[in-house]
Amino acid sequence: MHSNRSAFSRILLFFTTIAITTIVLYRNSERWLRSVLLYLSTADWARQIATSFPPAWQVASRFIAGETSQDAIRVSQAVNQMGLSATLNYLGESVDTAEDAAAAREAIIQLMQQIHQYGVNATVSVKPTQLGIHIGRDVVHENLQQLLTAAEKYDTRIRIDMEDSHVTDTTLDLYRRLRDDDQFGHRVGIVLQAYLYRTEADVKALIQEGAWVRFCKGAYKEPHELAFPEKADTDANFLKLSKQMLSEEARGRGMYPCFATHDEALIRAINQYVRQEQISKDAFEFQMLYGVRRDLQQELSAEGYRVRVYIPFGTAWYPYFMRRLAERPANLWFFLSNLVK
Ligand SMILES: Cc1cc2nc3c(=O)[nH]c(=O)nc-3n(C[C@H](O)[C@H](O)[C@H](O)COP(=O)(O)OP(=O)(O)OC[C@H]3O[C@@H](n4cnc5c(N)ncnc54)[C@H](O)[C@@H]3O)c2cc1C
Repeated sequence: MHSNRSAFSRILLFFTTIAITTIVLYRNSERWLRSVLLYLSTADWARQIATSFPPAWQVASRFIAGETSQDAIRVSQAVNQMGLSATLNYLGESVDTAEDAAAAREAIIQLMQQIHQYGVNATVSVKPTQLGIHIGRDVVHENLQQLLTAAEKYDTRIRIDMEDSHVTDTTLDLYRRLRDDDQFGHRVGIVLQAYLYRTEADVKALIQEGAWVRFCKGAYKEPHELAFPEKADTDANFLKLSKQMLSEEARGRGMYPCFATHDEALIRAINQYVRQEQISKDAFEFQMLYGVRRDLQQELSAEGYRVRVYIPFGTAWYPYFMRRLAERPANLWFFLSNLVK
């Protein structure tokens, strides 16, 4: 049985290698590969195959703290000891029943309780589709409200992650409603994505509102009508809008931008701008994913920059992991070679 599986894995590797080699010989290969991986990240059949294959989890665990909140707390403590802060994410998305959304909410409340109990320097990051955005606005709003109440009780903050463009408007509406209406509104933050054309206008509005914003490139498959097809354009937009979020006006209005990227060239360009404009290193932070560019995380921290690590945990790791593969094709090779070990 074992040798059958091993033989199957080797055959799979063989054909995949040929496929990838063929693909890389063609122009735009990376973009093509990225599209395939992003498609697979949402395909139920692919999730079932990958998650029933134990070696896949071994590779995925490079990016994931573990299956339980205790794992996430343990990793956060280690990260804190290195001088970095954390944001913890209980993995899960696209739930379609109110019961599942409520279960996720309760797990996140328990996580906040543990953050408090262990004195960890961490916030939490949550996904609207995990908390019921597809079920109804009231469902997700009610769940987020309960999370904010818990955040107040356990003295932490909540960041609403940004998912694909189907939910951008609703997510921004929810964020604003919570921030403005809820008595604990100062404990909620939002995310914007540099690849969307609309983001320039969103940045402008959020500067006026003095928001707490994470700024990333964007991890989902988006149509060309909505997002820059060329990576270079996304990168240029990232730098341009980062500078706007660091402007005197933005800082004056209380904006606190968090630049979520591993792109060293962009990070160095932001740092150069900060030096040139004599902006305090406390006026912003960098954020990176657990398992990605640890060297850079520590280097920036040693240089006196604030760095926060996004630490996911839980059993619903498949879509998160596939997005990480899509971001860097070299990870795919690492994944495939580990499958046959
Ligand atoms: C803290 C944090 C929170 C995020 N939250 C969201 C969110 O709410 N919504 C959303 O759409 N996206 C989110 N993202 C993902 C983000 O949008 C990008 O998809 C991801 O960060 C890759 O882009 P990059 O900025 O690192 O630049 P890229 O140009 O993709 O990468 C730059 C360099 O970073 C390294 N790198 C990047 N990704 C990986 C990887 N997976 N494995 C190994 N090396 C890698 C490589 O060296 C690469 O050359 C988040 C990212 C971070 C860091």
